Amino acid sequence: MESYGINAIIESRNIRILAADTKEITETARKFHDLYPTANAALGRVMAIAALMAMNLKDEGEKIQISINGNGPLGTVFVEAKSSGDIKGFVGDPSVYLKYNDSSKLAVGLAVGTDGYLKVTRFSNEIPFTSQVEIQTGEIGDDFAYYFALSEQVPSIVACGVLVDIDYSTKSSGALIAQLLPGHKEEDIVYLEEVQKRLRPVSTLLDEGMKIEEIIFEYFPEAKILEKRKLQYRCDCNRDRFLKGLLTLNDKDLDEVLKDDDIIIKCEFCNKTYHFSKEDIQRYRNV
Ligand SMILES: [Zn+2]
Repeated sequence: MESYGINAIIESRNIRILAADTKEITETARKFHDLYPTANAALGRVMAIAALMAMNLKDEGEKIQISINGNGPLGTVFVEAKSSGDIKGFVGDPSVYLKYNDSSKLAVGLAVGTDGYLKVTRFSNEIPFTSQVEIQTGEIGDDFAYYFALSEQVPSIVACGVLVDIDYSTKSSGALIAQLLPGHKEEDIVYLEEVQKRLRPVSTLLDEGMKIEEIIFEYFPEAKILEKRKLQYRCDCNRDRFLKGLLTLNDKDLDEVLKDDDIIIKCEFCNKTYHFSKEDIQRYRNV
């Protein structure tokens, strides 16, 4: 089933809800990068949140990039999400498989680490805008809740999760963000806090067979759905862009690269490889 996100609102309570089923995206990324369970869960959680944040982008070509590095074994988790619903990402070390000792839960927090930053860059105007916060637990959901509170001054519920099967395939993956809108009242805050107490993990609810719309109505019966957006793992890399990248190297570096007969560049997001011959490069060099 394809991944999709829902944008909903409760006008009377000044609450906006974004939620997505991202199983297909998470599973596609797992296959591309050969992700072990904890690496899969970490990337899947970040992609799910990024997908929801990108649903706020309206214009074509707008995108956000998220970079998280807490100095844990996973290295950097990097995700890009576009207004078109295209998501892509990678992690520093795909082979991380850590569990918490006291449970069978995947130890995303240990894999990510807590000594570092969560950075969000928005490309919606001409000048990209980056804001960052310190990583709190490395569990991703907590970190984004902190980000929304601090960077955007928006009190939010942030839930995200990935369930991984014994054969390492993705069982379920999704996220939900509920935010208070400007003009909210004290009672709206209380309402949101009550929901947060009752909210079960989104990945569990999806695994039990609930659709994302049903999850929204289960916790927010008065919600009105405004938009449904298709989401997909898609990389837009192409030969031209890598060639241009090569040509931005200075002469010394380019000469170094050209020592080898064939230049092979692998895309970090989709593993596609691009071959450039010496002649290819020389032809465009200094043009
Ligand atoms: Zn690519």
